[in-house]
Amino acid sequence: MQSPERVKVVVIGAGQAGLSVAYYLRRFELVAEQDFVMLDRAPGAGGAWQHRWSSLRLGTAHRVNDLPGMAEIGLSFDTADRNLPAKEVVADYYGRFEEHFDLRVRRPMNVRSVSNQGVDLLVSFEDLTPQPLEEEQKARGLFGRRRKTFEAAPAPAVPRFELQTQFLVNATGTWGSPFVPYYPGMADFHGRHVHTSDYTEAADFRDKHVVVVGGGTSAIGFMLELEEVAAGLTWVSRRPIDWLDRQELDLEGASAAVARQDEAARSGRALPSVVSGTGVPRSRRIAAGIERGLLVARPMFDRIEADRVVWDGDEGGMARADVIIWATGFRPDLRHLSPLKLREKTGGVTVGQGAAWNDPRIFLAGYGPQASTIGANRAGRMIARQIMAMI
Ligand code: FAD
Repeated sequence: MQSPERVKVVVIGAGQAGLSVAYYLRRFELVAEQDFVMLDRAPGAGGAWQHRWSSLRLGTAHRVNDLPGMAEIGLSFDTADRNLPAKEVVADYYGRFEEHFDLRVRRPMNVRSVSNQGVDLLVSFEDLTPQPLEEEQKARGLFGRRRKTFEAAPAPAVPRFELQTQFLVNATGTWGSPFVPYYPGMADFHGRHVHTSDYTEAADFRDKHVVVVGGGTSAIGFMLELEEVAAGLTWVSRRPIDWLDRQELDLEGASAAVARQDEAARSGRALPSVVSGTGVPRSRRIAAGIERGLLVARPMFDRIEADRVVWDGDEGGMARADVIIWATGFRPDLRHLSPLKLREKTGGVTVGQGAAWNDPRIFLAGYGPQASTIGANRAGRMIARQIMAMI
């Protein structure tokens, strides 16, 4: 069997963190084809931003920081059009960035696993480009003839590939790993469970009774969007909302939250929720929502029935529900790394300065303290420097 192509660095994920690392690798003179390869499973540029809902604008969430080097090509999110969906602006800017710095992202390539191959790592991935199923079947005469016998036509094989690499930068973010906590009765619910990652637009919830779960910016955004369209709207949070008295995130609070993430990553513990550490700034829009009684969260319900959520005990009562929106966050998307056994018994991967403590060939960009657009930027230089020192 032919041995796989060998490269120096494979970067998985072309979001903020992956692009930032790639930019510095290029600047530090890793320029040849066999120097580094970027793989991303999404169809286009933009990282997770390309999947976010259309009504999300730059500035309605937190600040989206520019990629390092974006200024060199005259781009900045600070001056971007705030009337356009954030998903479009970010996809456009990242696409131009990739092109200008010749980052040659291979997409849509889904990495299925990373395993040991001697001193190197073996990256196995598949090409998700939609196969011309119908055309192929027509050409092979499977349509019409076999349909009569109800025989399933064979699905075209997904092309699979392998790459052998000296170093791996995993920058796969969290979007592919939505988190929904378990509550009794979930499976008996007759309505729809929707996670943040499935939310597309408010119109989908017209005249529905909606329960929004979560204490962060996404849950608050959904409440504000659905106010006019839903027949009934209930907000619940697993912990009391820590409203900040300022309109924007205070840096002191944020750096304390980043320090907590860093501490957990360095000791191999599961990462704490970011919002529990930062608090929620009270923008004018949010303050008005609180004032008119919309943004007042009830404590978490105890169980779910077919058409309602129910509070037992002192709180008591119920709220009708056709839909439950789980704005309950995400977890690091690291399933493809499981053959490497990086996860500790304590629930996380031990990571310091973006480097995996148990394996000097592996870097986790955008993990823990780097999981914000500013943190992901910092990861770029820090990780590229460490790789250059070992190459
Ligand atoms: P991503 O942008 O998620 O990129 C990861 C990439 O990896 C994706 O392109 C994905 O296709 C690819 N990938 C994943 N798995 C595989 C695989 N197995 N094979 C191949 N490719 C793979 N931060 C801010 O600073 N400001 C904000 O306003 C803000 N708003 C947010 C709003 C929401 C709803 C959420 C969920 C997060 C928000 N964040 C915000 C956090 C922000 O998303 C991250 O900090 C940053 O954008 C993440 O960048 P990343 O490169 O780590 O991950």
